[in-house]
Amino acid sequence: MANRQPLIGGNWKMNLSPADARGPCSALLDGLDAGLLAKCGVSLFPPFPYLSQISDLTAGSGVSIGGQDVSAHENGAYTGQTSASMLLEVGCTSTLVGHSERRHGLGESDSVLNAKVLVAMKAGLDVMLCVGETLDERESGQSEAIVLQQLQEGLQGVSINDLGRLTIAYEPVWAIGTGRNATPGDAQSMHQSIRADLGKQYDDGSANGVRILYGGSVKPDNAEAIFAQPDVDGGLIGGASLQSEDFLDIVRAAVATVDS
Ligand code: PEP
Repeated sequence: MANRQPLIGGNWKMNLSPADARGPCSALLDGLDAGLLAKCGVSLFPPFPYLSQISDLTAGSGVSIGGQDVSAHENGAYTGQTSASMLLEVGCTSTLVGHSERRHGLGESDSVLNAKVLVAMKAGLDVMLCVGETLDERESGQSEAIVLQQLQEGLQGVSINDLGRLTIAYEPVWAIGTGRNATPGDAQSMHQSIRADLGKQYDDGSANGVRILYGGSVKPDNAEAIFAQPDVDGGLIGGASLQSEDFLDIVRAAVATVDS
């Protein structure tokens, strides 16, 4: 895996009550010893209203927190939106941009997502840019073209100096929440294409430093085989991040690929 440390992100989406959120988070923190955290980054993406609470709970633990989304605007009359500086204020160090439930579910375009990437990085947040093809796009042989277009348009204007703030999450839409994951080989093939494209957009050395996570029905029983691929640097986890034992097992699977 070159010198990239794996990263496991837990995307809680719009789940858990405030009280229910404390339990899995505390259980996760209890299970994450310094040995695991020395080998694998762990980030949680709770719903916005719980960010302060989860930030307090995770303070000093080595687990970072991030927003599930960020506004493309710095501030102003944007009802319902949350700015990058607000995320920073409540303890976030990162944000997701372009999760398929926003890209496809809410119709966010590549140009809007690009604006979010730029605003978030300018404010000092790390960005996890999510890319991925739909089932129709896969079946019509367009997966790579679609993913690379999302990548290139999402990163317009991002300088090579800001690549340290970037993580890519390859999340095939047909695999998210469906129980149907990409095969390790399919994931590796797309991750390799993404890395090669980053190499063309920037340079190979910089591309080698960018973490590319796989997301889409990662569970304890399939995680290690996917994470063991040379261009897969961990995962973005939805459903299984709500179960602390499953999430911990997925972190352990990422660590096992470092140890092996
Ligand atoms: C996600 O929401 O990013 C995700 C990958 O979900 P799941 O793990 O449930 O497929």
